[in-house]
Amino acid sequence: MKLTESIIELESRVQSLLSEIREIKMHVYALEEQNEKLSSKLFNGRPEQKGQQKLKELYEEGSHICPFYFAKIREEGEDCLFCLAFLKER
Ligand SMILES: [Zn+2]
Repeated sequence: MKLTESIIELESRVQSLLSEIREIKMHVYALEEQNEKLSSKLFNGRPEQKGQQKLKELYEEGSHICPFYFAKIREEGEDCLFCLAFLKER
């Protein structure tokens, strides 16, 4: 294979790699947008109050909101001391 041919092949590989990177970049961008929206929904609405209310709702629906077990399902009818402490300190 001539050197020119291998360089052309290399060029086309680099180009397809670049377009893959571009796709991934857009995907990450979309995820970051979504992540920002979700966390502002959860924590900012009307600063503490709304976030606090939302967390309380999540807890009452049966999810952990403490950093230890976050988003895991609570044992039915059992309070989690970490969750309660977490709600209190906010
Ligand atoms: Zn908990």
